Amino acid sequence: MNTPRFLVDCMLGKLARRLRALGYDTRFVRYLTDIRLVGLARYEKRILLTRDLELARKANECSLLVHSGNTETQLREVINHLNLTPQAPFTRCLQCNSLLESITRDKVKGRIPLYVEKSFHNFKECPDCKRIFWPGTHQDNLRREFETIHALNAPEKYHHTNK
Ligand SMILES: [Zn+2]
Repeated sequence: MNTPRFLVDCMLGKLARRLRALGYDTRFVRYLTDIRLVGLARYEKRILLTRDLELARKANECSLLVHSGNTETQLREVINHLNLTPQAPFTRCLQCNSLLESITRDKVKGRIPLYVEKSFHNFKECPDCKRIFWPGTHQDNLRREFETIHALNAPEKYHHTNK
């Protein structure tokens, strides 16, 4: 199966960041009319993620309607529906989806908090927005992702005592 790529409508910006943290190529656009969004999804062979039923209908086979208003649940919907696994975590800019490039430690000096500089060895830079990422930036996202996935299969964790 080809790795799915996504186009996310303006209501799902947080979901876009979560998919990027997992390594998925996820384009997020604002201010596009429905017809242009659908056109873009078709042209770039992306799955259009939206909560807008009418838009999902217009995009038909290349869309996935997301139901929840909660980012965690939305991600779970997408993961379940497409049977996703983490792709290549810590490879994409969470902000602009560009592929990150490795950067040496001396080049990040003064651009990130000192404690981060001292705690990590592996830094990456976005070639477009010049933001610097380190494993923690994506791991916070990832941890939540895995908890999300894990929670699906985990048995009831909490038992209530009825009196
Ligand atoms: Zn960027």
